Amino acid sequence: MNFTKKLCISPGSKVRLADWDANDTADLKKDDAQELLGRNITRMAELEYRLYAEGQRSLLIVLQGMDAAGKDGTIRHVMTGLNPQSCRVTALKVPSAEERGRDFLWRIHKAVPARGEIGLFNRSHYEDVLVVRVHNLVPKSVWSARYEQINQFEGFLNATGTRVLKFFLHISKDEQRRRLLSRVDDPAKNWKITPADAAERRCWKEYQRAYEDALGACSTKTAPWFVIPANKKWFRNLAVSQIIVEALEEMDPRLPKPPPDLAQIVIK
Ligand code: AMP
Ligand code: MG
Repeated sequence: MNFTKKLCISPGSKVRLADWDANDTADLKKDDAQELLGRNITRMAELEYRLYAEGQRSLLIVLQGMDAAGKDGTIRHVMTGLNPQSCRVTALKVPSAEERGRDFLWRIHKAVPARGEIGLFNRSHYEDVLVVRVHNLVPKSVWSARYEQINQFEGFLNATGTRVLKFFLHISKDEQRRRLLSRVDDPAKNWKITPADAAERRCWKEYQRAYEDALGACSTKTAPWFVIPANKKWFRNLAVSQIIVEALEEMDPRLPKPPPDLAQIVIK
């Protein structure tokens, strides 16, 4: 199954999330998927090692999704084999006063992975056309200009050595209800729920619409968006890992050449 092709949003297309099945598992069985995930994790670590050794390019992975869509879980399960030295996770929260005093990409650009690194965004600059739009935090004229600004920024990143992959973790409204309820019921998960989550859920439709516009306007050849069916966590993990491995394979990082005077190096 070629997830990279199947789950990618074609540039310039009109997105209707209702057309994407959040329960899709591509006819796979959970056990098989878990075995494949294990293989992908191993492969990702090998490719990460080469990317780090090469030290020329970087990979930026963006994770977005409604509350409880599984952003944290994806990081835990898919990135588990990576080397902490060359991998960096950034969670983009409500902007600080310092960040609000700058353009919306200022904090993002600072968090872009350095050459040789894999960077992961748990939420991202897309919040500036999602939560900001849904709650009218800036005028429409400001947020509507951001799609093009984002495309230019991501195009610039690509042209300067940072490959960008963006994943929308797609869950159904029912599945979100189940997951939010378990955060209320399970003491180990209580810390994850706030009254704001219930309020945000009431804006479900507005968020879906904002996502549809962002995914349609900002899926480009160089920085594609993928819609990941995420009701089944095991399928979500497999699909995300597979797409990352395929992108790294395509980047094909190379170990640097040995020094020319290797033969003269005598270790005693
Ligand atoms: P969490 O990811 O659950 O820790 O929550 C982080 C919160 O920060 C979410 O409610 C986001 O919508 C919010 N957030 C992230 N970026 C922005 C932004 N640029 N403007 C306003 N709120 C944001
Ligand atoms: Mg939250």
